[in-house]
Amino acid sequence: MLKVVKFGGSSLADAEQFKKVREIVLAESDRKYVVASAPGKRHDADAKVTDMLYHCYKQAATGENIEDYFAQIKERFDSIIRDLELPVSLDKEFEIIKSAFIHKAGKDYAASRGEYLNAKLLAAYLGFDFIDAADVILFREDGSLDMEATNTLLSSVLSDHDHAVIPGFYGSMPNDTIKTFSRGGSDITGSIAARAAKADLYENWTDVSGFLMADPRIIENPLGIETITYSELRELSYMGAGVLHEDAIFPVRFAGIPINIRNTNAPDDEGTYIVPRTDKVDMEHVITGIAGKRGFSVLSIEKDMMNAEIGFGKRVLEVFEKHNISFEHLPSGVDTMSVVIATAEIAEIKDQIKAEVCRAVNPDKIAIDDELALLAVVGRGMVKSKGTAARIFSAVANTGINIRMIDQGSSEKSIILGVEEKDLEAAMRAIYCEFIK
Ligand code: ASP
Repeated sequence: MLKVVKFGGSSLADAEQFKKVREIVLAESDRKYVVASAPGKRHDADAKVTDMLYHCYKQAATGENIEDYFAQIKERFDSIIRDLELPVSLDKEFEIIKSAFIHKAGKDYAASRGEYLNAKLLAAYLGFDFIDAADVILFREDGSLDMEATNTLLSSVLSDHDHAVIPGFYGSMPNDTIKTFSRGGSDITGSIAARAAKADLYENWTDVSGFLMADPRIIENPLGIETITYSELRELSYMGAGVLHEDAIFPVRFAGIPINIRNTNAPDDEGTYIVPRTDKVDMEHVITGIAGKRGFSVLSIEKDMMNAEIGFGKRVLEVFEKHNISFEHLPSGVDTMSVVIATAEIAEIKDQIKAEVCRAVNPDKIAIDDELALLAVVGRGMVKSKGTAARIFSAVANTGINIRMIDQGSSEKSIILGVEEKDLEAAMRAIYCEFIK
């Protein structure tokens, strides 16, 4: 067995958290490669080191004096060194970083230093080797990750190290400057490392015990999800479930490696397994999870004999394509077609879109309605159990909520409902109660 383990910012926020991490890593000899985030918040009012670095770099770029603020960042690391009594000093590193800030080494360079320094400390604390992500994670000229070159290089570098810590979140450009992923990107580094190491499991340690079946701000104490497939997660995370960076799925999914989301503060909890596929479809609750999101608009078009008009849909969608707008759903009837879009994408150009669609297909009726919320009910168990859709609709209808749109994915793994934004929470509760309790 070989495991790549990634620890998020809250898991490495201070010396106490470092101690938990060490206990977890050393508890299993399979945990050979560790990916580290920058120190996160120690409590609600605290700042993440990454945010501090961005802020400090901005100060430096505008010519402000950075001494005080820079010292606060350094203190975050020094306090870890002191409390763990580590025989290391980052003084020299901080001299180099300060001078790089003043000489405008770049925002990405600045932000990456949180991971770089924290991984150095963790490597020293665990007695593992340190591998700089700048040497093994490669970006192309256009800023995209060079997945294959990275995989080849990182595989060969890892084979020279029995145990190593790699900083998350960044890599290097062809001209050797530092480039970061988008925020939360250490998850992606972990996934890349798991693929390169041909790991059996990618453990992603955070501050929650995996995914919940529904949003705990809406449903009191929702059940946890034991196992979820990659495709179910795609359906749910796109709706904002958000424990894991969306792009972190691809490298491990490609290699068929499962991800286990675990809680550093409750290491005995099993967490959630994200798996390529599973035979376990006879699930106790039929559904795997529910997610909801506000902020959608729907363009509805009606035209007699629409179904006989070749190219109708294409002409409608070309209007969106021209404005570089992607659509979310496309429910349609015999003589009706709707396009569901994030409101933020069309807010400024609603009238223009309407006019252009009219010109393109000359509909009998056209309208754009806002304040739509989408609810995704996801579950691989739905294919097998009859009547799931009926149960969902009657649960919602029985609470007096009007369902504005229905879209069942062709894989039968998800049913999407559109309801008015004000009804989102009640609809979610109704569905949860129908299936869970
Ligand atoms: N430290 C980075 C951030 O705050 C990356 C990460 O933690 O994954 O976004």
